[in-house]
Amino acid sequence: DEAKGLQIGAIDYITKPISPPIVKARVQNHLKLKRYQDMLADLALLDGLTGIPNRRRFDEALQLEWHRAKRSSTLLSLLMIDIDFFKLYNDTYGHLAGDDCLRSVAKAMQQVMKRAGDMLARYGGEEFACILADTDAAGAQAVADRIIQAVMQLAIPHAASTVAPHVTVSIGFCTIAPDTAHTSDELVSCADRNLYRAKQAGRNRVHVCELDNCDLSCCTLENIE
Ligand code: GH3
Ligand code: MG
Ligand code: MG
Repeated sequence: DEAKGLQIGAIDYITKPISPPIVKARVQNHLKLKRYQDMLADLALLDGLTGIPNRRRFDEALQLEWHRAKRSSTLLSLLMIDIDFFKLYNDTYGHLAGDDCLRSVAKAMQQVMKRAGDMLARYGGEEFACILADTDAAGAQAVADRIIQAVMQLAIPHAASTVAPHVTVSIGFCTIAPDTAHTSDELVSCADRNLYRAKQAGRNRVHVCELDNCDLSCCTLENIE
């Protein structure tokens, strides 16, 4: 019985007669281990600098939301966000100040996310990504506008920026009805191209696909400048 119980996943096996102090001690040990395991699992999915979900968590969530939206025929929006002239920020104020800036920007942006299906993640370096489940282009535009405002309101001085005297972000986004003909990677690429266009158009702004519900035709070769 003991071998069978352990084989099918029991964490421990206690035989009668039961000794309360020993059972208590064992339960305490198991709880300690469980807390430690949970902490490690959290750390594996959170970004060490900003404390928000990391790239791995983002990749998992995007897959999940892509398939969920496909099943339920709902829209999915993805924002790609990049801090403007961040290399110059580091060069001017130092990397430690750069790290502080990343933390502040992440916190301010996270406060903008309101719904349970919203997720802001650190995509890499000074780039962030935001998944908005069951959100149309108008909704995503509203969130993007609020993010731009929230970062501007932080008013973190950035003397070397040619866009504003303080830290700003540029955002590209795409809203799609996930189907079997496309992949979540294409959604990421499309939002990323719009981010590039937002940068080209002058930074501290949002750029989006021409179609409210993108069919990815804006990302065909002849449309990419
Ligand atoms: P653009 O407006 O076109 O986005 O210009 P940029 O300078 O922001 O873009 P670029 O990609 O040239 O530079 C990104 C910088 O972000 C370079 C790198 O040193 C900095 N960076 C990336 N990760 C971190 C980090 O964890 N901490 C700090 N302090 N800086 C970082
Ligand atoms: Mg960048
Ligand atoms: Mg940048």
